[in-house]
Amino acid sequence: MIEDKNQQRTPLSSLGEFALIDHLTKNFKIQQKTTVKGIGDDAAVLSFGDKKVVVSTDLLVEGVHFDLSYMPLKHLGYKAVMVNLSDVYAMNAMATQITVSIAVSNRFPLEALEELYAGIEAAANIYNIDVVGGDTTSSTSGLLISVTAIGKVNKDDVVFRKGAKPNDLLVVTGDLGGAYMGLQVLEREKEVFKVNPNNQPDLDKYTYIIERQLKPEARKDIVKLLKDLKVKPTSMIDISDGLSSEIIHLCKHSDVGCDLYENKIPLDPQVISTCEEFNIDSTTIALNGGEDYELLMTISQKDFPKIKANPNLTVIGYMTEKNAGMHLVTRADEKIPLKAQGWNSLSDSE
Ligand code: ADP
Ligand code: MG
Repeated sequence: MIEDKNQQRTPLSSLGEFALIDHLTKNFKIQQKTTVKGIGDDAAVLSFGDKKVVVSTDLLVEGVHFDLSYMPLKHLGYKAVMVNLSDVYAMNAMATQITVSIAVSNRFPLEALEELYAGIEAAANIYNIDVVGGDTTSSTSGLLISVTAIGKVNKDDVVFRKGAKPNDLLVVTGDLGGAYMGLQVLEREKEVFKVNPNNQPDLDKYTYIIERQLKPEARKDIVKLLKDLKVKPTSMIDISDGLSSEIIHLCKHSDVGCDLYENKIPLDPQVISTCEEFNIDSTTIALNGGEDYELLMTISQKDFPKIKANPNLTVIGYMTEKNAGMHLVTRADEKIPLKAQGWNSLSDSE
């Protein structure tokens, strides 16, 4: 390699993931009339006639996003698809096709890839999508999987990160923090196994949270539910990085502030008990844990009667004027600023 002594070398960790994407793509201009939304949302939105097409892509890297010592390949295949479908559903769209690209080292036999593809096939069957292509290449170390998902949505139904208004309700699906606590349990068992390989772990009391980590489900059902309830969210995002980071995305894109109520955050009893066991605060986990793949949305107050009895949807706060800022209202009724500590794959720590 030719070395240029004058060349600046800025560590990527000094920017973080979002600033990096922004920096690299800030000069890109939209040139095609068919591009409705380019970079910056859960998926790109393209317009063809009265249908909109959404496209989203994600890359999973061994050692960064998954650890094959506790992630079965079949689950990995399934999860790689879910991660992408989740971004499509976050646009209020239905996923229709995916492409799957892999890079594999010679460490993997055919049987391993068959397992991976069994998971991809199961996901495609359950979510009613077609695998329509991809790419296969070799890698010098480990496994990489990239999935691109394509979906469709009627032109008036698409929902962006932008669009939340002051007084809109902040609503989340399912419960939070499970995937992260499942990972903590799996990592602890891995360490125990290293010391004593004969030790059979008893994971019965962690089944829900381990499943949240190993076999997440994208919320296709919510897109249908919203349609049935005749509710169009004013903004929406999927929760891949943790609640606080996603709330901040909605606020920044929509130019609003937010009050999030700590006592409203939905937590499964297994998340609460495992947090107690690990001596970590469950609110911190829900705010920063990530990988829950639930949907976070804002809805207009007038739609509240339509959603209030639904067990899938929990109101956790409301949007405010931008200058009011973004806050967590604690159980002790204190207001503290919301910060995104969401796990950031480019940061030094983690
Ligand atoms: P998500 O967590 O929903 O997958 P990301 O934070 O990965 O979203 O991406 C945010 C936006 O930036 C998306 O529009 C995505 O397509 C875009 N993006 C991410 N990485 C790149 C890249 N290397 N080049 C261009 N666009 C990118
Ligand atoms: Mg997303």
